[in-house]
Amino acid sequence: MTIILRRVAELRDVVRGWKAAGEVVGVVPTMGALHDGHLSLARRAKAECDRVITTIFVNPKQFNNPEDLKKYPRTEEADVALLNTVGVDVAFIPAPEEVYPDGHATTVSVLGVSEPLEGRMRPGHFDGVATVVTKLFGMTEANRGYFGQKDWQQLQVVLRLVRDLNLPVTVVGCETIREADGLAMSSRNVRLTPQGRGKASILYAAITAAAADIRAGQSDRMAIREAAEAIRGAGFDRVEYIELRDAETLMPSDDPHRPRRMLAAAWLDGVRLIDNIPV
Ligand code: AMP
Repeated sequence: MTIILRRVAELRDVVRGWKAAGEVVGVVPTMGALHDGHLSLARRAKAECDRVITTIFVNPKQFNNPEDLKKYPRTEEADVALLNTVGVDVAFIPAPEEVYPDGHATTVSVLGVSEPLEGRMRPGHFDGVATVVTKLFGMTEANRGYFGQKDWQQLQVVLRLVRDLNLPVTVVGCETIREADGLAMSSRNVRLTPQGRGKASILYAAITAAAADIRAGQSDRMAIREAAEAIRGAGFDRVEYIELRDAETLMPSDDPHRPRRMLAAAWLDGVRLIDNIPV
């Protein structure tokens, strides 16, 4: 049975018992509204660790848009039932005051990799992510942390953070889980209208086509322009960015000998969708 814990002190007691028995602890940080993408992380953690904690915390510090925070889906009961099917040991579901008690004054900022793309479009977002992830690693004392490639830039920020602060945790990046038509699973997808849902997979299709064209020798610029046109043509409201970047630093890259990643963000039905793929 997955047990629900809401206080850091209770969590520490449970984890201390596991650690005393020499068990390896994995953590899967989430904001809830769980879907198969999240569960794939939890399953991987189960396969690699003796104990698994999934955290469910809609972190106010990583929302640059108050409306997005308000509208973020919250489905605690269903989430815990899903975690139970995967055999997660603990759902850690703290209140905002438990994570940020009065007087909280520390922010973790990862420079460089957090600055372009999502960092530029969502000021403060990665400070919120880096701060909460550092705190969750501290609270859970996890040996291994599981993150999705769906949020590629976030994964690179966390990898940088763990190296830079010498945190004793191994970060594991897990494949993006997609719907049958290719749309990357996301908690925000439920906010799409049925018509929007019908068009949403064009984002993945367009960047996949662009990546194939680039590999076949087409110019990056041309391939990206065609992808943006296809996405707009399908009825998206706006393409925020489509960029080909160094997969690790997220800086512009025209070096085909380094791993590169195509990353995109676009708006549909007032919902912001992101995706990325290797090139
Ligand atoms: P979130 O609840 O959106 O903050 O996501 C929690 C974790 O699940 C993050 O590490 C995400 O990258 C990961 N995640 C979200 N969607 C997917 C997906 N479709 N496939 C794989 N991982 C995902």
